[in-house]
Amino acid sequence: MTTSFLHKTKLVLSTIQQAVLDGLFPICCLGCGKFDEWICANCHSTLPIITDQHCPVCKKHITSNGIVCPQCHKTTRKSFDGVFVASYYHDKLLKKAIHYYKYRFVEDLSEPLALLLAQSIQNSTLVTPDIIIPVPLHKRRYRWRGFNQASKLAKKLDLQISVITDILIRVRYTVPQVKMKNKNKRQENLNNAFIVKDASQIVGKNILLIDDVMTTGATLTECARVLKVAGAKTVHCLVLARE
Ligand SMILES: [Zn+2]
Ligand SMILES: [Zn+2]
Repeated sequence: MTTSFLHKTKLVLSTIQQAVLDGLFPICCLGCGKFDEWICANCHSTLPIITDQHCPVCKKHITSNGIVCPQCHKTTRKSFDGVFVASYYHDKLLKKAIHYYKYRFVEDLSEPLALLLAQSIQNSTLVTPDIIIPVPLHKRRYRWRGFNQASKLAKKLDLQISVITDILIRVRYTVPQVKMKNKNKRQENLNNAFIVKDASQIVGKNILLIDDVMTTGATLTECARVLKVAGAKTVHCLVLARE
């Protein structure tokens, strides 16, 4: 069998597979049901964008770009500098879209969701980062989902800034944070979960750390801490919403 024959067979099979999938699970807007798009332009325009960013630690003080307020700074100076939150988790459409993206594995939602991220920071005064790092998944979790949702968002965001996915590595499989209620246990759960593989690419850099949703903040805190230990100058986080 020639390679080109195999290639053609694969193409035909994948076209059939796609047609079957489209028949079983037709793509329709999660907001209004319109065919062929996961979030149509009309529904996308209804997604709220947060204009007043708050200190991610105390959640009380309004701060520029969601930087940590001076009172909370003492506790987090070895971790992130701030968290910029694009939209509200309680928004029905956004919540549904995030659910489909993460748990129904609709990878294509990375596009409208990244667009929301882009729109949210469009008029912000966030420092232009030197590099973008998505929160990594453990390889076991990656195999389960088939893609890294944070990484997809970072790439679709298309800021013309390098997205680096092989420096910050998740080396330990952990129980999903969302399932853990106790704060100390959550932090403990992440001990030694991340490593920086090549610190030379991090030293002195302004980093934008991207994740889909901030739940307890423990994951972002730990990732940012590890990046700071490796020599990062600043670490600002960008998420779709805060749960
Ligand atoms: Zn719609
Ligand atoms: Zn604060």
